[in-house]
Amino acid sequence: MSLSAWGWNDDFARLGHTSPARVTSEARGFCRIQTESGDRTAATRCDPPPVTGDWVVWDNTGITGVLERRTKISRRKAGRETAEQVLAANVDVLFIVTALDGDFNLRRLERYLIVARQGGVEPLIVLNKADLCPDPLAGLRQVDELVRGLVPVVLTSALDDASTAQLHRYMEPGQTAALVGSSGVGKSTLVNRLLGQQAQPTAAVRESDSRGRHTTSARQLFLLDAGWLLMDTPGLREVEPWGPPEAVDGVFEDIAGFATLCRFRDCRHQDEPDCGVRAAAGQGELPPGRLDSYLKLRGELERLERMRDLSATLEEKRKWKAIHRAMRRMPDKRR
Ligand code: GDP
Ligand code: ZN
Repeated sequence: MSLSAWGWNDDFARLGHTSPARVTSEARGFCRIQTESGDRTAATRCDPPPVTGDWVVWDNTGITGVLERRTKISRRKAGRETAEQVLAANVDVLFIVTALDGDFNLRRLERYLIVARQGGVEPLIVLNKADLCPDPLAGLRQVDELVRGLVPVVLTSALDDASTAQLHRYMEPGQTAALVGSSGVGKSTLVNRLLGQQAQPTAAVRESDSRGRHTTSARQLFLLDAGWLLMDTPGLREVEPWGPPEAVDGVFEDIAGFATLCRFRDCRHQDEPDCGVRAAAGQGELPPGRLDSYLKLRGELERLERMRDLSATLEEKRKWKAIHRAMRRMPDKRR
């Protein structure tokens, strides 16, 4: 099968690589890859390892390198370490799935929108479980108000093919979509609906869980009959975007707009006099909770930036210490 079906295009070819393959799933040192001559399992021999969606170079010994990523989905790694975790690569459209029942949360959507923008991926919001919601249009209106027409919003019920078929309109053959969202919002059900009866084109890497059962790898890339590619991701408990503080402004254009009215150009919209943003919020020109959410996210990314600077400084110090130690060990030729 031609690799263009799997998303290979001139952008990658221009990088001068031959014999590429695409990672369709990845687990503990092994990847399932789609090559020009079909799919196969390959050991990972490069560090950092590839993620699902990556284009890689490989030979008979395994995967030897990862090609430059066109786009990525990444977040701050969960836990105390300050590190980026890339969840998927070379994604064109991020399907941000939320359910119109208990999961519905505009603040979480904002986080995913930052993740999409930061990774260079087009976002699309999927409001699922419309069948369980007495007034799905009310949810749709709230989200529309949030994104102000800048991001498409689709209302679905994963139990109804006609509603999930809407997603085809946003995709072209060879393009890749990734689904993200909390666990339970219906991501797997959507994948199964879109796959329909077609045979699964790729086998997942098998791994054993703690009870010795075989489970499929969490992230897997599927080729749909419609010609585009779909990637499932496991439910994320927390979404902390990874990027500079300015990343927030791209998703809060309304706030950036009112900020031009602030007296101070570097106004932080907290307690400065003549703040255009706080004035707008006070007059109800911003949706409720929007400014608090902006300040919180900005604070988070500022903290992240300080942590990154700090670890860079420590790394630099370690390097110089090692150099000084080595110099002390050198014989002094002057004597
Ligand atoms: P995931 O964790 O995001 O992959 O969620 P699942 O696909 O496993 O779905 C969680 C549960 O919600 C399952 O019992 C599904 O059958 C159900 N579900 C998913 N989508 C819908 C929907 O649109 N409507 C209804 N009524 N149930 C849904
Ligand atoms: Zn201000």
